[in-house]
Amino acid sequence: MSGAKPIMGGDISRAFKLFGQKKDYFIKLNSEDIASDMFHAEYLGLDYLAKHSSFVVPTPLLEFKLSSGAIGITMEFIVSCNKLDFEAFGKSLADLHLKSCEFFGFGFDNFIGKLNQSNSLCDNFLKHYVEHRIDPLVHMAFDTSLISSNDVSTFEKFYTSVNELIPAESPALIHGDLWNGNFFFNHEGMPVIFDPAPAYSHREFDIAMMQLFGGFHPTTFDAYHAHCPLENDWQSRTKYFQLYYLLVHMCLFGKSYYNQVIQIVNKFR
Ligand code: ADP
Repeated sequence: MSGAKPIMGGDISRAFKLFGQKKDYFIKLNSEDIASDMFHAEYLGLDYLAKHSSFVVPTPLLEFKLSSGAIGITMEFIVSCNKLDFEAFGKSLADLHLKSCEFFGFGFDNFIGKLNQSNSLCDNFLKHYVEHRIDPLVHMAFDTSLISSNDVSTFEKFYTSVNELIPAESPALIHGDLWNGNFFFNHEGMPVIFDPAPAYSHREFDIAMMQLFGGFHPTTFDAYHAHCPLENDWQSRTKYFQLYYLLVHMCLFGKSYYNQVIQIVNKFR
C-alpha cells in the first residue's frame, strides 16, 4: 500500500481511497458502537445486490478492526465518471424491482443511515410498512421529544388507512436508500449503486427516495416505466414512502424535518 486519500460525500463514516500496488481500494472507518453491525450488514447487502442485480456494485472484500478500536470495511474502488447513462439506470432499477420473493423483509436486519432497519419477514405489506418501517421511528421520535403524544395518535389513525392508500403489490427487491449520494456512473457510463439498505419491500420506497432530494434525470423514470410500469396514481402515494425517509432524517438530524413529516399525516388528525 502506498497511502490513502480522504473521500468526501458520505454522511455516516470516514471514507478513504487506499492506493495499492496493483489496484486501489475503498475503505470506510467508524468508531461508533454500531460500526461492526453496520459494516457487516453493508457487506452482506452489497454482496446480495451484486448477485441479484444488473447494476454495477462494488465487491465487498473485508471487515476489520484497527488497534484504535475503529471498525472498517474494505471494498473494490470504482472510478466515477461523468458519462451519465440514466436510461441504463432506469432499466437496471426495473430489473432489480422485478426480483420478488414470498415475504416482505430480508434475511437480516440492516441500517438506514445509522438507524436499525427491521427486516423481520411478514406476509403482508401493512405489517411491514407499519411495524417495521414507520412505527419504530414514530416511537423513537416520541421518546426523544421530537413529536408529541397527539402526533403519535395521528400516526395511529393514519395506519388504519394504509391499506386503502397503497394498493397491494408483490414484494420487490429494493436498494432501500436510493438518494443521489448513493450512486454514480463508472467509466463506461454504467450505473453503480452502493451504501444500500436492501429488503424485499415496496418498490415505491426507491421511487420516492429518488425524488426526495432529486438528482435523477427524467429519462431514468421513463426507462423504468417502460420495463416495469408503476401502478396508477403512484405520484399521489410518493409522500407516504417519503415519510419513512423524512422520519429517519428527523430522528438522525433533528426537528427541522418535523413540518415535512407532520404535513403528510395531518389530514388523519
Ligand atoms: P457513508 O456510509 O458515510 O454515507 P458512502 O458509502 O455513501 O459513505 O460513501 C461516501 C462516498 O464515497 C460516496 O458518496 C461515493 O462518492 C464514494 N464511494 C462510495 N463507494 C465507493 C467505491 N466503492 N468506490 C469509489 N468511491 C466510492
